[in-house]
Amino acid sequence: MTIDDAPRDAPRGGTRELLRLVASGAAVSRADLARVSGLSPSTVSQRVEALISEGLLTEAGAGKSRGGRRPRQLAVPTGRAVVGAIDLGAHHARIGTLDLTGQVVEARTLPVQIEDGPEVVLGPLLDEVQAMAAGADGAVPGGAESRGRSLRGIGLGIPGPVQHGTGRVVGPSRMPGWNGFDVADFCRLRADVPVVVDNDANLMALGAHHAIHPDLEHAVYVKAGTGIGAGVISGGRLHRGAQGSAGDISHCRVVAESGPLCSCGNTGCLEAVASGAALVAALREQGLPVDDLTSVMRLIEDGDPQATALARRAGRSIGEILAVVVNFFNPQVVAIGGRLAECEPLLASLRGTLYERCLPLATESLLIERVTVGPDVGIMGAAQLVIDRVVDPS
Ligand SMILES: [Zn+2]
Repeated sequence: MTIDDAPRDAPRGGTRELLRLVASGAAVSRADLARVSGLSPSTVSQRVEALISEGLLTEAGAGKSRGGRRPRQLAVPTGRAVVGAIDLGAHHARIGTLDLTGQVVEARTLPVQIEDGPEVVLGPLLDEVQAMAAGADGAVPGGAESRGRSLRGIGLGIPGPVQHGTGRVVGPSRMPGWNGFDVADFCRLRADVPVVVDNDANLMALGAHHAIHPDLEHAVYVKAGTGIGAGVISGGRLHRGAQGSAGDISHCRVVAESGPLCSCGNTGCLEAVASGAALVAALREQGLPVDDLTSVMRLIEDGDPQATALARRAGRSIGEILAVVVNFFNPQVVAIGGRLAECEPLLASLRGTLYERCLPLATESLLIERVTVGPDVGIMGAAQLVIDRVVDPS
């Protein structure tokens, strides 16, 4: 399909978009929604009626217009329906509840050990999110307001490859006991609400795209932390490919011969050369006393020459792989998130490598930037996943 075949001028008016327009104040009536979304008034009316009957929209001011023709004002009821979100990492999980426009209601971080296996890790997190949703109006515990809240679904991010369609984890690195585990199935039985599972880089891409670049159609979001992954937005939507592995650059080879052994069993993978885990391992091998990525970051901030050289090399390696991605895909933005995005020497090398290795046309207006959303970007993406799939299946 060529670009010209794509439905470029299709109106942007899915149910979620209508909710967002009302929540943001961009539209307060059906007429506003029709004008702003480009949908026909009858389609808007149908969707608004469905949202009202679901309890996702209310009509403020209805019944007070005696004698007048004031249009009924639409509003998103606060504190009624929420979605739950879990962004699972190797040693901690960010969990939260968000409203149906994707705004965080409550969030907190819990310690986990991914190597404890899926049942031990996921069970308590699901219980915690459900408890959080049930008591989420906390300001008035037990008050009338709190009884109306309902959990519509849970979005869950896994730090490894997830087969789209089944929600199974397939061939993860550093996640003993998880290979082949049907995460979606386990969660649905345990949680009693719809659960949508995806990998953590895709969640970061969804969250960051929605928060920073909602109008950009083509974007690549790289999550560079303990591991390295990426999520791809194409035509304004998350691109997962046939099985869900699109964007997973962790095991692309950057060192041709006898590079470091990767957790996948190959040598010279990007993850074995440029991830946070690789930096920790390489510095230890050089005799530096580093425990974790935090201590590596501290060394780099202090200008340690060995750590800085490694960070630069990691940036070049990530840049080499991203140069292929940029030449192939021609995105408008490449945004780097995760802990390593805070590493200035790494980012500078990555940027330089991209300009060196990409076609001038591909980099002419390319934005290369940091993901600046903060620690909730993953749960924001998880919420989008649920809102897209459960609340707005159209
Ligand atoms: Zn590998």
